Amino acid sequence: MALRRFAVTFVLAAVGASASAQSQPVTIKGASVFDGKGRSIPNPAIVVRDGKIASVRSAVAGNATYDLRDLTLLPGLIDTHVHLDTHFGKDGRASTRGETPAEATLHEAGNAYTTLMAGFTTAQSIGSPLDLDVRSAIARGVLPGPRLLTSIRPVNENTGTPDQIRAFVRKIKADGADLVKLFASKSSREGGAQTMTDEQIQAACGEAKASGLRSWVHAHSPSAVRAAVLAGCTAIAHGSQVTGVELALMAQRGVYFEPNIGLVSQNYLENRDRYYGIGNFDDQGFKFTEDGIPLKLAMFKRAVTTNGLKLVMGTDAGAGAHGRNAEEIIYRVQMAGQPAADALIHATSLNAESLGLADRIGSIAPGMDADLIAVDGDPLKDITALRRVVFVMKGGTVYKNVSTHR
Ligand SMILES: [Zn+2]
Repeated sequence: MALRRFAVTFVLAAVGASASAQSQPVTIKGASVFDGKGRSIPNPAIVVRDGKIASVRSAVAGNATYDLRDLTLLPGLIDTHVHLDTHFGKDGRASTRGETPAEATLHEAGNAYTTLMAGFTTAQSIGSPLDLDVRSAIARGVLPGPRLLTSIRPVNENTGTPDQIRAFVRKIKADGADLVKLFASKSSREGGAQTMTDEQIQAACGEAKASGLRSWVHAHSPSAVRAAVLAGCTAIAHGSQVTGVELALMAQRGVYFEPNIGLVSQNYLENRDRYYGIGNFDDQGFKFTEDGIPLKLAMFKRAVTTNGLKLVMGTDAGAGAHGRNAEEIIYRVQMAGQPAADALIHATSLNAESLGLADRIGSIAPGMDADLIAVDGDPLKDITALRRVVFVMKGGTVYKNVSTHR
């Protein structure tokens, strides 16, 4: 059954590509559409032309190119934090030992496909040199995958002096990076203490800004988070140990905050045997992971009630988690009590804003790129509908349609 579905998908992808090349308008009807900014429209008819949304109207007579009248339409979902290169290797473990570059690239291509089929039409990879070729193949339209952004290589405490860090930032910009990633604290499996000095963080985020790049900071401890906020960095991820003070500071300075509470740790524990013994995935590391789950949930509940905090949706998806990105959204709603509409806004229009792409993606409105998905059920009432992605369109091309109509 699964194989059959994939075959259908590939045929439709080809049909979709030729349809958009002919500039024929395409009409999609749904039970309702959630526009990514908080508005729902019943019985929508969305017209797509030349890869962009031309109009969104309600209760229009006539036939649709895609009759999805029993489904809910949403903007394509966005994940601000994936590791698209990561996968289980030849021995089934989270190690790429003995792989050829071609094998590694094909694994990443597979992860890109899986992520797109799960309804994620944009993903930010944090980040690997492999991302560059995959990003370019996706952009050429020859590889099905999300619009891909990448940090290529991170800055960390060993990158060097502030001057050396500034040179490094200019180099990755020249290599094609979409953002700069800073490793400003240890891993959560090693306690999460600050690693980069305040001066190193200032150099990286300052040079990123001067080069027109966003900066994105891995930081667990309160001191690392504070240093990054005060250095003017764009976004902070993890923040597992932050208190109300850092949450308020991020809100006050307009820094995006991306906690990861619902997929990454759970995935490590589900796949414990495949990670165990690699790097810091040891007994102590797994203990930090287990203990961290309720702490991160409590932190997130505080974050949701922090006025003005821009709470973006990133998963930190690695090997075993690709294609399950929506579990982060589902966890936020089911376990932390975040209103479903807010969780969906964060995973679409707020995420787009955090990537500097608010004028192109993340909402359904005339002039936006035609990134649309359809799910079976109404995620405003039952967030698990996000597990049932039936239709995926990216830039006007249909990559998936397993609806019972056409
Ligand atoms: Zn990560």
